[in-house]
Amino acid sequence: MKIVQAASELFPYLKTGGLADAVASLAGTLADQGHEVAVFLPGYRAALEHPHAAAAERRLRLKIEMGDEFLTGDVRVFSPRKNLQVYLVCREEFFDRRQPYGNGERDYEDNADRFIFFCKGVVETLRLAGLQADVVHSHDWQTALLPLLVRDAERKHGVTLAVKTVFTIHNIAYQGLYPRGVFARTNLPEELNNVDGLEYYEQTNLLKGGILFADRVTTVSPRYAQEIQTPEFGNGLEGVVQAREHDIVGLLNGVDLAVWNPATDALLPARYSAANLAGKRICRTELLKRCGFAVDFPGPIYGMVCRFAEQKGLDLLLANQTFFHRQDCRLVLLGSGEARYEEAIRAMAERSPAKIMLSAKLDEGMSHLIEAGSDFFLMPSHFEPCGLNQMYSQVYGTVPIVSQVGGLMDTVTDVDAHPETGTGLMCPPTAAGLRAALHRSLTLFADAPRMAATQRRGMARDFSWKNAADGYARLYQESL
Ligand code: ADP
Repeated sequence: MKIVQAASELFPYLKTGGLADAVASLAGTLADQGHEVAVFLPGYRAALEHPHAAAAERRLRLKIEMGDEFLTGDVRVFSPRKNLQVYLVCREEFFDRRQPYGNGERDYEDNADRFIFFCKGVVETLRLAGLQADVVHSHDWQTALLPLLVRDAERKHGVTLAVKTVFTIHNIAYQGLYPRGVFARTNLPEELNNVDGLEYYEQTNLLKGGILFADRVTTVSPRYAQEIQTPEFGNGLEGVVQAREHDIVGLLNGVDLAVWNPATDALLPARYSAANLAGKRICRTELLKRCGFAVDFPGPIYGMVCRFAEQKGLDLLLANQTFFHRQDCRLVLLGSGEARYEEAIRAMAERSPAKIMLSAKLDEGMSHLIEAGSDFFLMPSHFEPCGLNQMYSQVYGTVPIVSQVGGLMDTVTDVDAHPETGTGLMCPPTAAGLRAALHRSLTLFADAPRMAATQRRGMARDFSWKNAADGYARLYQESL
């Protein structure tokens, strides 16, 4: 099949979270399976500075209609592996910035324009380059208009650009909700500017376009596919999702074993496998050293890596800080995002500097070391569409402590409830729930054979992307 993917993040060129990993792994696996894959990404500064893009060829000049003006841009293309082409849709004014979505304090004011331009750039490239896709698959609010824009361009130009469109919701909490005036920038027919189209309580909701108008809709875990049809998790779009209940399917993300694999991971000081965990102990020592802790500490190390956002349950962690101050344990946190969480966590770490370490930045190498060197990985999320770190943890022999929500429920089994098959500890997303799970982790850690068996069961799980990519390939094929 000829498959086009479009997203606002793509590892290793631009990543703020799981979206980048998921799109890269899906595209790479489909390419390895012999499909012809093109991935579109905005031409961010970081992407253009990446060594792969040095060889990028300037393929097309774009002139994009945005409301009643035309904006120019260009498209650069490179091929990082067989069957895979990366298309960068460039316009300096929009994408030559250090961060993709905002300056850290707030989102950029021109985000609607930036991503509408990107989507239109994708469509215009499909048309000018005659790509004739079997499937155009877009991801999250930034590319949610693609299904509509593809069909609109086909109508206007009398051509076929894609046989089918697929849209994946990676996180329904981010919707691309803008003042109603933004609709004019789409140049879509006015009949879509109402409640059956993009309108949402007197505003324009870009995500809604993807959910309503893609031929097939997917989300990143079976559990989340159910959850987002309820008011608790639907973020106001539960009715819109329910309208597509027969076309929506939950396909679990996987782990890219070329990147996340303790047996081959070049970012670690030592490699290891379930058969020989000696390397994990070296990673543990290195982690303690990097944190400035005594390296011979024998007790449990808790790790956490996440965006500092409400979703991730940092409030539940903070509500349990006494646990970390009192117990003989270590806590290592890596993350960045909202300042209020960073400040609160920093204050917590300053109270017990010999036990708690915060690294407030994006650090790919450190995220691997935390996964490898910790005993437990914390993910007390309030909601989690799929979650990747709990899978990475299991692959790295680190026992995840997770909330009973979304993809966490589909990928972790509680070891107290299921002693023969358990791989982690699960709790309700409340302060008391997390507290109980933390105390259960001390009991588990104190029982070395049970702890080791739990780690090994996690390492034996198959989270490879092959399963996930097969699921998408089947879905594309069915829809065709
Ligand atoms: P989300 O997509 O909601 O952020 P996921 O668990 O699906 O959550 O994916 C998060 C990804 O981002 C993981 O690969 C994680 O390691 C990575 N990540 C998050 N914060 C950081 C950070 N500060 N440094 C390095 N990697 C990070």
